[in-house]
Amino acid sequence: MKADLHCHSHLSDGKHSLEFLVQRATANGVTHLAITDHDYTHPTFDTEAIQALTLINGVEISCDWHNLELHVVGLLVDPECAALQRLLVSQQAKRRERIAAMDELLSQRGIPGLMRSLTELPAVSLSRSHVADFLVAAGASKTRQKAFKQFLGKQGKVAVAPQWCSLQSAVDAIHAASGIALLAHPGRYPLNRRRLSLLIEGFKASGGDAIECAYPNIAAETQQALAALARDHQLYLSAGSDFHDAGARWTDIGKFPSIAAADEALAVWHHPRWVREFGQTAGLSVRSD
Ligand code: AMP
Ligand code: MN
Ligand code: MN
Ligand code: MN
Repeated sequence: MKADLHCHSHLSDGKHSLEFLVQRATANGVTHLAITDHDYTHPTFDTEAIQALTLINGVEISCDWHNLELHVVGLLVDPECAALQRLLVSQQAKRRERIAAMDELLSQRGIPGLMRSLTELPAVSLSRSHVADFLVAAGASKTRQKAFKQFLGKQGKVAVAPQWCSLQSAVDAIHAASGIALLAHPGRYPLNRRRLSLLIEGFKASGGDAIECAYPNIAAETQQALAALARDHQLYLSAGSDFHDAGARWTDIGKFPSIAAADEALAVWHHPRWVREFGQTAGLSVRSD
């Protein structure tokens, strides 16, 4: 058995439908797949229709911690939880306002039509990735990377600061929805080792349950450092591809480094909430590729 506990559909900034994700996960031998769209939960999955694998309802919430932008993933969340939906609807509205402000700035620079072009997408949760695609399609940037550098990053020409909720409200909303709260890709934040350690401590103090330590392109030493921090702070470990797009080469569903065998006891499938849902997931492999 094989788990991929982080990926995106076209309801946020992924490129593909739920059906596509299920198909690809199945083809890649994944048995447990969490769909974790940005600030959006899918309605309860019809598990009878999806027999090939276990689909887990998740979410990835953008939030703020001492002016640092963090992503917190919720696993096994109840999508009907009112407190969670209140937060997500507010985040979605803020995303829309941010993108509308970028549209205004782009129009002033002679690149009109962003918001109009986005209405053609299935996305409920808008993101800068959509703006990057628009800029490439409009011929304003050669690649998405360049669009982020020239236009959308902190120093970009149409940068608009985000207005995310606090780390504490993200964790609380996930818990209100009976979910497991985990810090996404801790090694991708601009932090040195000392500050990373403070972040993990702060995350635990906020009630966080787990941290991701197995995802594409993570350095072996970062993975080891994260596992040690998880041990120190009694946090579980999670693993996921952060898959967005079959056209991107750097990741695929189910393709990322494994949780080290020595750390398997900390894997998130041993968390009481997971065990309550699925029982002991006997033989869930620590190998993901
Ligand atoms: P947002 O949540 O609107 O700030 O958009 C962030 C999303 O854009 C992330 O979830 C990534 O999918 C994507 N992203 C962020 N930075 C880059 C980058 N430098 N190049 C390509 N995609 C990026
Ligand atoms: Mn994304
Ligand atoms: Mn993320
Ligand atoms: Mn993600």
